[in-house]
Amino acid sequence: MAIRIDGKALAAKVKAQVREEAALLPRKIGLAVILVGENPASKVYVAGKEKDCAECGIQSFPHKLPAETTQEELLGLIGVLNADPAVDGILVQLPLPDGLDEGEVINAIAPHKDVDCFHPVNVGKMSIGRPAFLPCTPAGCMEMLKEYGIHVSGKRCVVLGRSNIVGKPMAMLLTAADGTVTVCHSRTKDLAAITREADILVSAIGKTGAVTADMVKEGAVVIDVAMNRDENGKLCGDVDFAAVEAKASYITPVPGGVGPMTRAMLMRNLLTAAKAHLA
Ligand code: NAP
Repeated sequence: MAIRIDGKALAAKVKAQVREEAALLPRKIGLAVILVGENPASKVYVAGKEKDCAECGIQSFPHKLPAETTQEELLGLIGVLNADPAVDGILVQLPLPDGLDEGEVINAIAPHKDVDCFHPVNVGKMSIGRPAFLPCTPAGCMEMLKEYGIHVSGKRCVVLGRSNIVGKPMAMLLTAADGTVTVCHSRTKDLAAITREADILVSAIGKTGAVTADMVKEGAVVIDVAMNRDENGKLCGDVDFAAVEAKASYITPVPGGVGPMTRAMLMRNLLTAAKAHLA
């Protein structure tokens, strides 16, 4: 039976460390959070981030804009926040309403305030092993591996999904930690044959039940990034948890695994940004 990786407990520990270090700085750390429109899931995520900021002694500056906001207005606000010395990080909650250009918006954020690590400059720095920030979800996965003493070096790692925010950076961080990494996606042939080779399997597909026990090697470490809803509306991951738990050595639950860690790593990035701004 696998050991359950407790993302909630580790996130609390990371946030406590951030709070402690933040309290030593000469001014409050500031996060500007931009929410455009009324997407209910986005509202929940933003509320969670504001709560985390309060817990860590970080000032949040909410900017709740109507869905009709134009690209120019949004870019104008980002320009103002880029120049505001009280703002260490700028977070634009995605997805943006139709008609707004996400790529252009991300590019407009000053890289030194890009605490999500989505800006091409920061993605590039990470890819050459000189990161300014690490993207929150993959960094949270790496932190969990570290906390549980799971060594990546020399391991066969399989990442399911190749998105810019999860799959690709996850593969980069595992590679940087000396794992031997295979990235799979919707066009991958004979997926199960590849996943069965994994010592460390990270799933970020977004489909309930996509990872079944027959796809997992005995003793593998299984990290489930996905946040899906089952037929009863309950939060769940990609992994068939009960069956895979019986086979894996370590496994992350959903909820209580990667989700809280993603939020905690944002707080850590804010601390990193503030320290650089104050240096
Ligand atoms: P995404 O952009 O939709 O990417 C999904 C990836 O899965 C794509 O690369 C896709 O391949 C691949 N895929 C789809 N079906 C597949 C299959 N049958 N076999 C193998 N690969 C398949 O999603 P995302 O933004 O990366 O998010 C993935 C999941 O993680 C979602 O459930 C999301 O809610 C969750 N998430 C959680 C957190 C957290 O904090 N826990 C943070 C971010 C995201 P193609 O590229 O070929 O289309």
